[in-house]
Amino acid sequence: MVAALAAVVGANHVLAGAASLAAYSYDATGLKRRPHAVVLPGSAQEVAGVVQVAEAFGLPVVPRGAGTSLSGGAVPVHGGVVIATSRLNRIVSFNAKNRMVVVEPGVTNLRLQEFLRPRGFFFAADPSSYRVSTIGGNVAENAGGPHCLRYGVTTHHVLGLKVVLAGGRLVNLGGPAEDWPGYDLAGVLTGSEGTMGVVTEITLRVLPLPQSSRTFLVAFPSVDDAASAVSDMIAAQLLPGAIELMDQPSIRLVNAAVGAGYPEEAGAVLVVDLEGLAGEVVAQAQIMREICQRHHAVSVDEADDPVRQEALWRGRRAHYGAMARATRTGHVWIQDVTVPRQHLPEMFRRVLAIGERYGLHIDCAAHAGDGNLHPSIPFDPHDPDELARLYQADQEIMAACLALGGSITGEHGVGFEKIENMRLMYGPSELAMMREVRRVFDPHELFNPGKAVPGPADEKRGVWLFAVDRT
Ligand SMILES: Cc1cc2nc3c(=O)[nH]c(=O)nc-3n(C[C@H](O)[C@H](O)[C@H](O)COP(=O)(O)OP(=O)(O)OC[C@H]3O[C@@H](n4cnc5c(N)ncnc54)[C@H](O)[C@@H]3O)c2cc1C
Repeated sequence: MVAALAAVVGANHVLAGAASLAAYSYDATGLKRRPHAVVLPGSAQEVAGVVQVAEAFGLPVVPRGAGTSLSGGAVPVHGGVVIATSRLNRIVSFNAKNRMVVVEPGVTNLRLQEFLRPRGFFFAADPSSYRVSTIGGNVAENAGGPHCLRYGVTTHHVLGLKVVLAGGRLVNLGGPAEDWPGYDLAGVLTGSEGTMGVVTEITLRVLPLPQSSRTFLVAFPSVDDAASAVSDMIAAQLLPGAIELMDQPSIRLVNAAVGAGYPEEAGAVLVVDLEGLAGEVVAQAQIMREICQRHHAVSVDEADDPVRQEALWRGRRAHYGAMARATRTGHVWIQDVTVPRQHLPEMFRRVLAIGERYGLHIDCAAHAGDGNLHPSIPFDPHDPDELARLYQADQEIMAACLALGGSITGEHGVGFEKIENMRLMYGPSELAMMREVRRVFDPHELFNPGKAVPGPADEKRGVWLFAVDRT
């Protein structure tokens, strides 16, 4: 098979040595399973050729961007051929008049933003992993980010896709005009987590940079106060660019790790971006300050120059890395649950109580404007007792979220890690319908099997972290 793959992409772009296979066996969850081979194609035609070879050898295909998935999405749980998109990294064209950019999937979010900024535009989805995650991965996961509150998530900005399907068939879905007749198949593909085909080109809508933007760091005595202020901001029809919430353990963590300078004694902080026309920002800031004061804000720091704004964001952006560095093992389990915004304070309380019950330390950060909470739990993958407690706590966090009318994922996708929990959200009919949709694109479950939608006969796996090879 390696020889057949080399005939398609060139011997230099096929990796089959033990070290390479280990390097492509995991993503940001730390879940691991080695692929049979890794290929780095340089064109859509080469992707099509690789798909044909994998099919001929009866092996699955697993698309992979930067491997930052937090749901095991890029882990080849059934082995197979990993198609890494790092060589598909061209910005193909940009059209300011049509507010549109065409990119290959391996372009990183940061590179695209850096390309667009001097031209006066930006791409709306800004996952916290934006420095490394790829546009292909963003599309496959329908990525969100701090600024999706105002601008929407990836799917709202995908105009068209080129995709390699089973048999190496190349299709064009959607296109550069705002409306495209027929079914919105590019919409179906967006968020399909690599289970329907390999995206080889993406046409994205881009937005003009806001005329004015101002960042606020507001400290509150408690998470309750901060979260209640968020609910009131939404009810008052404010539409901030971002509203992020961090609890006290997270504040202390990022202060120690990167000198964020967040108020150490605060029970919680909000990082808020207001943006739009200059007058609009001034008016919104006034309303926001009044709301924060009503909810006992103890301090408000603000900035409107990019350097100071970035300084106020520093702690929030550093949260995950700071946590991983502060743990004994470097392993942090990040949950991703979303509740209706008004239930955010209650969800925080329930998460912390679950942590206490299982003897686990939990820090919480939230895309609060969206009700999206990320409880982060350091763990030792070599401690079976801690893994079992982590698993139980994780399941209870999801149950608590569902009891409050929420969703088991806000933005990190289902992947492998949450596949069984899909049964908590959907009945057999809905899941059967999803499987049927998938089969239209991928009749033999060639693409990323074992992800996103559970099979009819799958059984509950028990402790999910043990379900894959962690060596
Ligand atoms: C520190 C940290 C912060 C994060 N913050 C956010 C956040 O704020 N918002 C958010 O939404 N996510 C966040 N994530 C999760 C992750 O970064 C996103 O899901 C991101 O979109 C994944 O991009 P990637 O290039 O790393 O994709 P990968 O992890 O390589 O792959 C993710 C999925 O996409 C599929 N895929 C990749 N490329 C293609 C392609 N060309 N065609 C078809 N399928 C493909 C893969 O098969 C896999 O299922 C975060 C992760 C980390 C580690």
